[in-house]
Parts: sequence; C-alpha cells; structure tokens
Amino acid sequence: MKALRLDQADLERWFANWAKTREVYAPLEQSSTSQSISATRSYVDWAILRDGRFPVLDRGLPKSPIKKFFLPQPEVLFRSSTKKDDPDAFVLKEPEEQKDRRVLVGVRPCDARSVELNNLPFEKDPYFQSNRARTAIVGFTCRDRCQTCFCEAVGGSPVGTEGMDIAVTQLDDLYIAEVITDRGEELVQEGGGAPEASEEEISRLKESKEQVKSLFSSMSDLDHSLEAMKAKDLFALYNAPFWSQLADSCINCGTCTFLCPTCYCFDIQDEVVKGTIRRIRYYDSCMFPLFTLQASGNNPRGQKVQRVRNRFMHKFKYFPDRFGPFSCVGCGRCIRECPVNIDIREVLRDLLAVE
Ligand code: SF4
Ligand code: SF4
Repeated sequence: MKALRLDQADLERWFANWAKTREVYAPLEQSSTSQSISATRSYVDWAILRDGRFPVLDRGLPKSPIKKFFLPQPEVLFRSSTKKDDPDAFVLKEPEEQKDRRVLVGVRPCDARSVELNNLPFEKDPYFQSNRARTAIVGFTCRDRCQTCFCEAVGGSPVGTEGMDIAVTQLDDLYIAEVITDRGEELVQEGGGAPEASEEEISRLKESKEQVKSLFSSMSDLDHSLEAMKAKDLFALYNAPFWSQLADSCINCGTCTFLCPTCYCFDIQDEVVKGTIRRIRYYDSCMFPLFTLQASGNNPRGQKVQRVRNRFMHKFKYFPDRFGPFSCVGCGRCIRECPVNIDIREVLRDLLAVE
C-alpha cells in the first residue's frame, strides 16, 4: 500500500485543492445558544471546511455520526405535484440523482467502519449506494482513547482503516497518509501529491499503531468480550430480569438511536406542501412505541421493556445472525448523550455475566 509523508501545510493544500471541485466536510467547532437559560454551548460537529480552517481532532468524536451523508434526514425518494397545469401531476418520479462529490476529512475508524456495516442491509438500496459513490472518506486514526469508546471490543480498532479511501496517522511532527482505494489515489492527485514515506517513517507508523492498540486494550475491561459475546446464546436471555431493570430507567427518548452511526430504522411518508408532493424516508427509532404500531391496533413491542431489549438484541443478535458483525462500532455516542446514563458497556457486561 502506498504511504505518503505530509506536514500540516501539505494537508491544508490538499484540503484547499479538493474544495475546488468537491464539498469538503470536517469536524469543526460549533456553538448553540439556549434562550431559556441564556447560555452558549460549544461542541464539535460536521461542517464545510473553508477559510483555511483545520479539522478539530482533539476533542473526541463529532457530536453526530457520518450516517447523515449516506442516509440523509430526510431522503426524498419520489416527487410529484398536485398542480393542474402539470401533465405529470400525481405521477411519482425519482428525483434527479445528486452527483456533487464530497470528501469527509477527519473521520475516525469507528465512524468509517459504520459505513461498511450499514452497507450490508443497504447493499441494494440505490439512494444509499448513490450517496456512497459520491462521498470519499479521509480517515484519521486515533491516538487517544475517549472516555466512552470501546471499538476494539466490538470488532473494530483505533487504527483500523475499514471504510476509508485514505487513512492519515499523525506521528508527532508529521502525518503519514496511507492510500487505500483508487478514489484515494484520485484524491492524492487532485490534492497535488506528496513524497513517499521513507522506510524509517513506515517503521515509525507501524510502531505507533502497535502502541495505540496496546494502550487501548490496556484501558478496556471489555477487550476479550468479542468472542464471548459471539458464543453467548442471547435468546436464552430473552426473559432475563435485567431487561426490566434496564427499561425502568430508559425514557424512550430515542437519542441513542438517532446519534448511533449504525442505527438505521426509518419510516416513509408522503407529504404535500404548496402543490409539491414528496415521498420521504426519515429516521425513526425502535425505542418509540409508534414504530411497531400496526393498523389493527396491535403493537408487538408495545411495552418499554420490549423496545429496550430489541435495541440490544438487534445489535448483538439479529444483525450478526444475518450479516456477521455486531451492529455497533463502539463509538460511545449513546453513552455520552443518554439523558439517564444508560451505558451500553454495562449492558454488555451484564449480558456476559448472566448464565
Ligand atoms: S438515550 Fe437513553 S433514555 Fe433515551 S432511549 Fe436511549 S437508552 Fe433510553
Ligand atoms: S450502539 Fe452506541 S456505542 Fe454502539 S455504535 Fe451505536 S452509538 Fe456507538
């Protein structure tokens, strides 16, 4: 695999050159003001990279995952109109395919991997595939562990490159860019190239990755859970009492699923606004009682405990049974943002502990 050496100015040159023909997004500082308590809060989230700014990479993961670039909120599936002078009124037509190319810069290994996992159920979805074809991923491997991440326990790695076109690793004074795909090679050419890394620099890259991997596993008490979870018969725990205890504190707000990079439940609705008809697909959540409410009035997951159990069974039983890997990349967003502090790592520990 080709490995190039860059300094920060080289990376900035790449970003500026890409921005001539593509939309470049990166984690950047944002702020929001609450009128009710007159307070301003700052956070890091995805935004267009311009004006010589550099991605913010030292404040943990961006607030939202990158799924919004592949599963936008909402996705317009069909359009039509109700206008009398429109010969195609009420005839649903697919919207024009969006072809604007985009680059996401500063994607961490967990988020890049989530695109590969979501590709499994959406392999034949033309909307997801079209968004995927026009979105390049320039990842940055991790150096520090966030308090809430556990990627290695669910099959990922802090230095993993799955889902990336280019993987950049910072080595104190320089960056090494590994070019993984043809699209990555195209980006290098568009960026203006860079010299190949020397053998000594490649050895430093390997050494640094090994150090990060052992740092992460030394800080994790879930490090050896992957095989144990795979071997566990979760159906045998379907009626375990701890689901009720867990459900007692959950308020079914859906925050965990909306911010999860690998949750993809959706609903489809038709809307008419000022003569324009849109059939849209938008995020839904298995934590909401309406999600499974049937026209007959029957609701197979009408109780909160059933919905809470489903969230974890889907991630660790149903999805792996069908596709192989767990439907979780260990990003920790659900832990960080849950208003009642439900911690998926504790759920994993409980699942492993129940006989
Ligand atoms: S964020 Fe927490 S409280 Fe809200 S639905 Fe998820 S687990 Fe329940
Ligand atoms: S379940 Fe939680 S930790 Fe796992 S990918 Fe989703 S948000 Fe991240």
